[in-house]
Amino acid sequence: MPRFIFITGGVVSSLGKGLASAALGSLLQARGYKVRLRKLDPYLNVDPGTMSPTQHGEVFVTDDGAETDLDLGHYERFTGVHAKKSDNVTTGKIYSDVLAKERRGDYLGATIQVIPHVTNAIKDFVLSDLTDEDFVLCEIGGTVGDIESLPFLEAIRQLGNDLGRSKSCFLHVTLLPYIAVADELKTKPTQHSVKELQSVGIQPDILLCRTPFDIPEEQLRKIGLFCNVRPEAVINGRDAKSIYHVPMMYHKEGLDMEICRHFDLPLNAPDLSVWEKINTAVENPEGEVNIAIVGKYVSLLDSYKSLAEALVHGGLHNHVKVNLNWIDSEELEQAEDPMHILGNADAILVPGGFGERGSEGKIKAITIAREKQLPFLGICFGMQMAVLEAARNMAGITKAGSTEFGECEEPLVGLMTEWTRGNERETRSNQDDLGGTMRLGSYDCALSDGSLAASLYGEASIQERHRHRYEVNINYRDALENVGLKFSGLSPDGVLPEIVERQDHPFFIGVQFHPELKSKPFDPHPLFRGFIEAAKTRSRLV
Ligand code: GLN
Repeated sequence: MPRFIFITGGVVSSLGKGLASAALGSLLQARGYKVRLRKLDPYLNVDPGTMSPTQHGEVFVTDDGAETDLDLGHYERFTGVHAKKSDNVTTGKIYSDVLAKERRGDYLGATIQVIPHVTNAIKDFVLSDLTDEDFVLCEIGGTVGDIESLPFLEAIRQLGNDLGRSKSCFLHVTLLPYIAVADELKTKPTQHSVKELQSVGIQPDILLCRTPFDIPEEQLRKIGLFCNVRPEAVINGRDAKSIYHVPMMYHKEGLDMEICRHFDLPLNAPDLSVWEKINTAVENPEGEVNIAIVGKYVSLLDSYKSLAEALVHGGLHNHVKVNLNWIDSEELEQAEDPMHILGNADAILVPGGFGERGSEGKIKAITIAREKQLPFLGICFGMQMAVLEAARNMAGITKAGSTEFGECEEPLVGLMTEWTRGNERETRSNQDDLGGTMRLGSYDCALSDGSLAASLYGEASIQERHRHRYEVNINYRDALENVGLKFSGLSPDGVLPEIVERQDHPFFIGVQFHPELKSKPFDPHPLFRGFIEAAKTRSRLV
């Protein structure tokens, strides 16, 4: 039976609970333990797939095709452990399962209640699909005190009892706000939040106090005293300059040590060489590159979380700092002088997106990248727009469009209603629900010999994660290849275009999948390594 660490958050949201969980996971790995990270989300959506990116941030897709919370992206980036469907659940999913069982009559006439039926379903989820993990880190979304998190807190309280202290630990992440006029860090909100936790029967074992400054010794003691936590288990969680400093910082503050102490495990030093190397690279760039990202969810940068990180990883590999210039595609669409908005971009990236709004601005950016020989990477919607750009501006198919925007005469991009995954056929219709019905998760892609894609990946066959409903129409292959847009990656059955690229350009590539989801700081994704390298070359030319 693994050991369980339950991570809750108090005082306010956006404390970096997900990052803290991810960093702790990586520290336990550095001590030789096998970890698994899970997120329990209290909202009522069945999954975040239908939520607006500007409200909820990015939807992180797993290999097995689950649309999950973006925290799972942090978990993967810090630990390299690929998340699964069974690593993220919401109140909506728990309830829909409980209600389906009730309709089937599985409860044999019982009255269905939050306790025990909903809490049991949560507990079953936490304990399910585990093999030989040493630790399962289970983060509870939201903030202690929210009405909707109560069933989750009750479930982990019960699990704490069922498993016992030797197999469970409660880590509470809180905030110490800094009051400038008093020049003081305040402990009261933390005390209140711990009281709130205690009122539902949970006594935290460790407190991770997020703060802009070091917490004075005497404050740490005070927090421990008022919150009934040993003072050494009150951890100083200072803001970090880079998220990749967090594992080392929390280690220095004793977070992993306290976990080991709690579980009575050896206290020898972990092997942090991977993070030391990453920290050195973060601290010592030898230059910088400017990347223009032309998207439409730029009002909330969390909507492009994995993308921003993958670009940073590409920078780490190439020893450059990557400056991200987020450009609203609608603004570019209307601009008389788009170059002014693109500024000193060394490369242009058009990320994933949904819907027609802003698409013309993205196409405009792609024309500029093509004509000015600026390195270009188009992701998912970005690849679809690159195809429309070539069709309209080079192949003379002026009516080229995507059926995502409505009926069109030349459907260069169309709704895919049938495709294969391994040996299985998947089908969809335009009447399907929106939730969970896209082409989701990992699919194989075959690369053509001698292509840029094949040289970047260094292999002939790759697996990448998808999340889209529309596909480039293979029937237009010849028309596009004749104007230099080569189809260099296809689904193994040759039906679905996965990668397009230009050979008359230093770096112009569009991919139907989301490579950013698989990039890690210790293993930057080949496409981002290549893209940043091309941007670096470009920056030295001008
Ligand atoms: N809207 C497009 C589709 O559904 C692209 C989606 C995306 O960029 N993830 O096919």
